[in-house]
Amino acid sequence: MSDIGKLLVVVGPSGVGKGTVISQALEQDPTIWLSVSGTGREPRPGEVNGTDYVFVSRDEFSEMTQSGALLEWAEYAGNPYGTPRQPVQERLSAGQSVILEIDIAGARQVKANLPEAVLIFLAPPNVAELERRLRGRGTETEESVQRRLAIAQTELAAEPECDLVIVNDDVQVAAAQLIELAHR
Ligand code: ADP
Ligand code: 5GP
Repeated sequence: MSDIGKLLVVVGPSGVGKGTVISQALEQDPTIWLSVSGTGREPRPGEVNGTDYVFVSRDEFSEMTQSGALLEWAEYAGNPYGTPRQPVQERLSAGQSVILEIDIAGARQVKANLPEAVLIFLAPPNVAELERRLRGRGTETEESVQRRLAIAQTELAAEPECDLVIVNDDVQVAAAQLIELAHR
């Protein structure tokens, strides 16, 4: 393990499989640490506070932004999301690789502050498959699916800004590529 861990920022449109690929990578390589974001959105059924997100009120979120507690933050589909700074810095200093699963606006802020961060674009095999996955997950209302598909157009355009692209065709293959990057 190197002295300072790798900071991998995984971006890509909602429904592309970021959560699926990252959890597969973590299962295979428990030395990688996934940052837990704070958010002002409501928990989905089954989501656990402190594990999936730290769920906070709008006021608590503003307080986090103002006190500098967040490495980056952004609004996504009408809700605020942000990365707590301290746990990320502690893990990196301890030599552990860290994954951030955040939107492109947040990824730009991370890259501006920490140029050594590696921005990884998780791409769908094609747009029809993206829509199929987003609906297949069954967690969103039709309105939310439409909103996320509209945002996906902007997110797909962000691919050239990223340092590397992983196509999520096969979950195992994509996860193995992510693990390789964590130790490169
Ligand atoms: P994201 O975190 O990017 O929003 P998810 O990880 O929730 O996406 O995945 C969205 C849906 O797509 C889930 O139902 C998941 O099981 C499915 N999925 C993810 N990766 C693949 C893949 N490589 N092939 C087929 N289905 C996938
Ligand atoms: P979801 O509501 O599906 O959990 O997340 C929606 C989007 O918010 C995801 O696609 C993810 O990229 C983004 N997101 C999650 N956490 C963060 C964060 O801490 N910062 C930023 N900028 N975006 C985040």
